[in-house]
Amino acid sequence: MSTTLTLVQGDITRLRVDALVNAANSSLLGGGGVDGAIHRRGGPEILAACRALRASRYGEGLPTGHAVATTAGRLDARWVIHTVGPVFSADEDRSHLLASCHREALRVADELGARSVAFPAISTGVYGWPLDDAARIAVDTVRATSTEVEEIIFVLFDERAHEAFAARVG
Ligand code: ADP
Repeated sequence: MSTTLTLVQGDITRLRVDALVNAANSSLLGGGGVDGAIHRRGGPEILAACRALRASRYGEGLPTGHAVATTAGRLDARWVIHTVGPVFSADEDRSHLLASCHREALRVADELGARSVAFPAISTGVYGWPLDDAARIAVDTVRATSTEVEEIIFVLFDERAHEAFAARVG
């Protein structure tokens, strides 16, 4: 089965897909940016599910580069797949962690049986990753990952992010 890769500019919380990926932080208890938008529109059920994860499997928080699914609450999706991107560092190459976010999110999507998955530009907001490099890692990683997901959609919030991803997708 081949996977199609598409780009959309806009708000990821407006998409109708099987699973939305959230650029969460390791507390899983909400934050700003795309995380805040997902919790706001998805409602309290998502936070309740995250709290339950903190009380069970992820007492210390979700490690960077890992992914875990919850309900999508009131969003037009079945699941939110939370993953924690690395904070960009000019001194240390953390690319493998950003790649891992994409691979792990697709692995979780496969476990769930999700066929369409939307990703934001993980780590490119508060976590400071340069857009062109994040686009390279994100696009190359999903292309190199074997998955049952049929449709991968990168949802880019603004034109600059959309251009960076479009340049990489070609
Ligand atoms: P991180 O902490 O991983 O950097 P952010 O949420 O700060 O996460 O930013 C990640 C990316 O998500 C940024 O490119 C930001 O512009 C984008 N973003 C913010 N809100 C939304 C949204 N509602 N839909 C899609 N992308 C969003």
